Amino acid sequence: MKYSSYFIPTLKETPSEAEIVSHKLMLRAGLIRKLTSGVYIYMPAGLRSIRKVENIIRDEMNRAGAIELLMPSVQPAELWQESGRWEFYGRELLRFKDRHDRDSCLGPTHEEVITDLVRREIHSYRQMPVNFYQIQTKFRDEIRPRFGVMRGREFIMKDAYSFDTDEKGAEKSYKRIYEAYSNIFRRCGLKFRAVEADTGSIGGNFSHEFMVLSDTGEDQIVNCINCDYAANLEKAEVRCIQNNHNNAKDDPAALEEVETPDKKTIQEVSEFLSVSPERLVKTIIYNVDDYLAAVLVRGDHEVNEAKLRNLLKADQLEMASQETVRSVTGAPVGFAGPVGLKVKIAADNNIKGMVNFIAGGNKKDLHLKNVNLERDFKVDVFGDLRFITPSDACPRCGSEIRFGRGIEVGHIFKLGTKYSKKMKALFLDEQGIEKEAVMGCYGIGVSRTVAAAIEQNHDNDGIIFPIPIAPFEVLILPLQVNEKDVAEAAESIYKGLMEKGIDVLLDDRDLRAGFKFKDADLLGIPLRVTIGSRELKNGKVEMKLRTGSENTLISYHGAVETIIDKVKELYDKAE
Ligand code: ATP
Ligand code: MG
Repeated sequence: MKYSSYFIPTLKETPSEAEIVSHKLMLRAGLIRKLTSGVYIYMPAGLRSIRKVENIIRDEMNRAGAIELLMPSVQPAELWQESGRWEFYGRELLRFKDRHDRDSCLGPTHEEVITDLVRREIHSYRQMPVNFYQIQTKFRDEIRPRFGVMRGREFIMKDAYSFDTDEKGAEKSYKRIYEAYSNIFRRCGLKFRAVEADTGSIGGNFSHEFMVLSDTGEDQIVNCINCDYAANLEKAEVRCIQNNHNNAKDDPAALEEVETPDKKTIQEVSEFLSVSPERLVKTIIYNVDDYLAAVLVRGDHEVNEAKLRNLLKADQLEMASQETVRSVTGAPVGFAGPVGLKVKIAADNNIKGMVNFIAGGNKKDLHLKNVNLERDFKVDVFGDLRFITPSDACPRCGSEIRFGRGIEVGHIFKLGTKYSKKMKALFLDEQGIEKEAVMGCYGIGVSRTVAAAIEQNHDNDGIIFPIPIAPFEVLILPLQVNEKDVAEAAESIYKGLMEKGIDVLLDDRDLRAGFKFKDADLLGIPLRVTIGSRELKNGKVEMKLRTGSENTLISYHGAVETIIDKVKELYDKAE
């Protein structure tokens, strides 16, 4: 490709709307342009990078035995009503009516469509296992689209769905895709980690997220410094009950009322009564499906709603309004406590070991001291209901844990029979018995992967693309395009590389060298070959890696071979 007849509209200034580096650089390097909130145009060079990620994905998915198809983005409401998600899926699901008044939506994911296809086409164990995938545009009306294509409303996803005859087969399919994903992200040149994750609204019983490690990631991840345990913060299990406080062996003392005027938060109460937050119990009222529940965690802990949802097997879960809290507890928010409450009580495991603690008194400006489990109130259900903290130990091996941040680029789920049961995706097994297919689903954010790669690979001057997903592999930069020798040398290397199938961009623009270098650094093509009249007179051209780790004069004669060898070397390093 020649720069002068291509289109890479780079920007000098950083657009003010961009907060994180990948978003800034993608705009500045002319890879994307915004159409409207969360909706972007993939510009020519950006699209090249996207296509490279797609091709790596295709390659590995095909190798894993998955079969590519392409499903529509418009979906009928009936399928979503059948699966039960028409009501349940939040406002991310863009619903609309067509001209015949039929409810429809833009597909945020395709479990319903694929399950519908499979129930119509697949009837026998002989046709299974099967795994279908597509690379397709998704729409999710995200509440807070941001960071460019990192969290868009419209974005490109690779989604795959496996159908097995039994649990064991489903496990195999899952493992195979787990391996494929590891290959994909390694081949994209990313530093990543697979972590255990919660299954969220998609349902199912087991899941891993593939996280690109980055400080700007939206997800918090926890990993063990000793074993290979790693999990999303939402999912990270708290195994051990912490030694609650130093008087855990005390005898229960008499319940006492203490006035706590206007002291509502844990911090206010603990300061006012001069006790540490670990001695307090937080009581939070939730609306759960069609009932109310109180959730107890220790004062210094936070309720993990994903865990709460799982424990209560709830579809809908949200913190109760101020009015509801008042009607349940008889007090304004800030004074709720378990004693005398007439709703279901769920408590975090850590509450079990607590003696003589402080809780709200269910009356304005009142707390209770020396509250004790069993004697003063009963808990309906205990469970792991809180977020892990840095002082907790690894749930697997008991070692220290670390906190970090990541960008979720892939997510795999074991779905079980959730969809096949609801939508009757049945097949006949070897004995002729009708069974539900056991499913798995597997997503990769294609556009997000490009952004994540940039987030992880850049410097002050611009992007440093890993070669497998760079828009071009080599940039040829002649310094004096109007000098015949230089122009001819550039053209000859350009042609030589193209003939060998290298993706090469020739910056043939008649611009100042400094300007072209700036663009080159911004765009981040991994290998730059600079041709200047002075070196060329000595039979040399300059070869430079965008990482800055190498800068050498190579012989013009044989340059094509030298460059190709270097390209190969870069691939070997990346993969
Ligand atoms: P997130 O927690 O980031 O919202 P998710 O759990 O909703 O992700 P999935 O439904 O598993 O995501 O979708 C599969 C993949 O699609 C994700 O791993 C992510 O890489 C990508 N993805 C999801 N939402 C977006 C979005 N709004 N913009 C870009 N990519 C996205
Ligand atoms: Mg989401």
